[in-house]
Amino acid sequence: NSGADFIVVANRLPVDLERAPDGTQRWKHSPGGLVSALEPFLRSKSGAWVGWPGVADVDVDEFEDDGLRLIPVTLSATDVRDYYEGFSNATLWPLYHDVVEAPVFDRAWWDSYVKVNHRFAEAAAAVASPGATVWVQDYQLQLVPQLLREQRPDLRIGFFLHIPFPPVELFMQLPWRTEIVRGLLGADLVGFHRPGGAQNFLWLARRLVGLEPSRAAVGVRTRPGLIHVGDRPVRVGAFPISIDSAGLDGLARKRDTIQRAQQIRADLGNPKKILLGVDRLDYTKGIDVRLNALQELLIEGRVDPDEVTMVQLATPSRERVEHYQRMRQGIEQVVSRINGEFGKVGHPVVHYLHQSVDRRELVAFYSAADVMLVTPVRDGMNLVCKEYVACRHDLGGTLVLSEFAGAAAELTSAFLVNPHDLDGVKNALHAALTIDPAEGRRRMRALRRQVLTHDVDRWARSFLEALGSQGLN
Ligand code: UDP
Repeated sequence: NSGADFIVVANRLPVDLERAPDGTQRWKHSPGGLVSALEPFLRSKSGAWVGWPGVADVDVDEFEDDGLRLIPVTLSATDVRDYYEGFSNATLWPLYHDVVEAPVFDRAWWDSYVKVNHRFAEAAAAVASPGATVWVQDYQLQLVPQLLREQRPDLRIGFFLHIPFPPVELFMQLPWRTEIVRGLLGADLVGFHRPGGAQNFLWLARRLVGLEPSRAAVGVRTRPGLIHVGDRPVRVGAFPISIDSAGLDGLARKRDTIQRAQQIRADLGNPKKILLGVDRLDYTKGIDVRLNALQELLIEGRVDPDEVTMVQLATPSRERVEHYQRMRQGIEQVVSRINGEFGKVGHPVVHYLHQSVDRRELVAFYSAADVMLVTPVRDGMNLVCKEYVACRHDLGGTLVLSEFAGAAAELTSAFLVNPHDLDGVKNALHAALTIDPAEGRRRMRALRRQVLTHDVDRWARSFLEALGSQGLN
């Protein structure tokens, strides 16, 4: 096989391997925003995607899926436990999300992270043609840029972090902080969601590696900052990710979707107002915050359980990590308590689904919801709130959004809340339920202007332009 000119390296492939109980295997597409945004680049320039197929201990050869070259990286069950569930999701995830839960620092997990990052770098080095562009994604692979550069100095390497980059005082807790910063500095361009993340990283590069930002780094708010590793320039900047806004808008306008949304309302007993939460079941998402706010409003009689129904979709996530097991119990207890106190036979107040739904069904839920509650205590961007806005071509629906989601910087016409301030959340929820329709439309129009003009395609292009990738057109 000849080399690829454009390579994405991510923890997961854009397809998942599924194994049936009878031992047969099949590939299932996992269509995320990232895949659809990068597909045009991957297909137009002989592209390849390096990633893990999602199942431990399977050794699969490179294959083509609908014209896209997929390069599987094998992880053993121990790798999954130590590199993925351990270092990625029980060390880095909580550390980078403001230590909402205490990060675990385990030396064996770190060793596994190093080993697996080597494996990803080798797979990318093997497939890249001379001078190719390689775009490394996210916190699981922060050592890959440097490891790749050591083997292949001819490559143009970009790195993007999809989660928040933490304040320096928190990052400094990490025993392997210098190694991580050096790993990222192997890239030509390091991208974050928010200017604050870029600034934190520049500060750490100076403090831990002794690099002086060039004067241009001052421009980090408007254009990438710059530092030099030897005489090699590394650019650092903010690139807020987004969604396929036009695609969702189109799907929400379809007759099928509109009918399904009506059906959902009817199934819920046609309540006056529907509240909606959609999240992976993760402790950063503040699902408990919104449930507690609703519970207090019900107790105080400010919300009438005969008029208001809440749907919480909570996608199963990282179920073997202990933090997640504890949090799930807590949330399910509050749901039960609310329904126990305020529900009626056949009419619970909170409909809680620990399930994942497909895109069409999700769009129908967004279309049916009067108030969307997005209350993370920390979130890199949060795509759910942008998706909700993209679906509301009718200008209906009100968004309550945490200030601590990256999206809050763009979605300033939402009801912005501090999730730690329960009274503030309650007041915003109440205001959203009782909003004057004209005011609601005004807010939604402003939100849509932002989301429809700043889509994921624009995000990918602006990153690749800053990276100076060849062949963009
Ligand atoms: N999502 C989905 N099915 C579900 C729930 C969520 O496909 O049942 C998708 C949702 O459309 C969104 C993504 O999962 O694109 C969640 O992204 P977000 O940035 O909000 O949170 P993350 O899970 O990445 O922390």
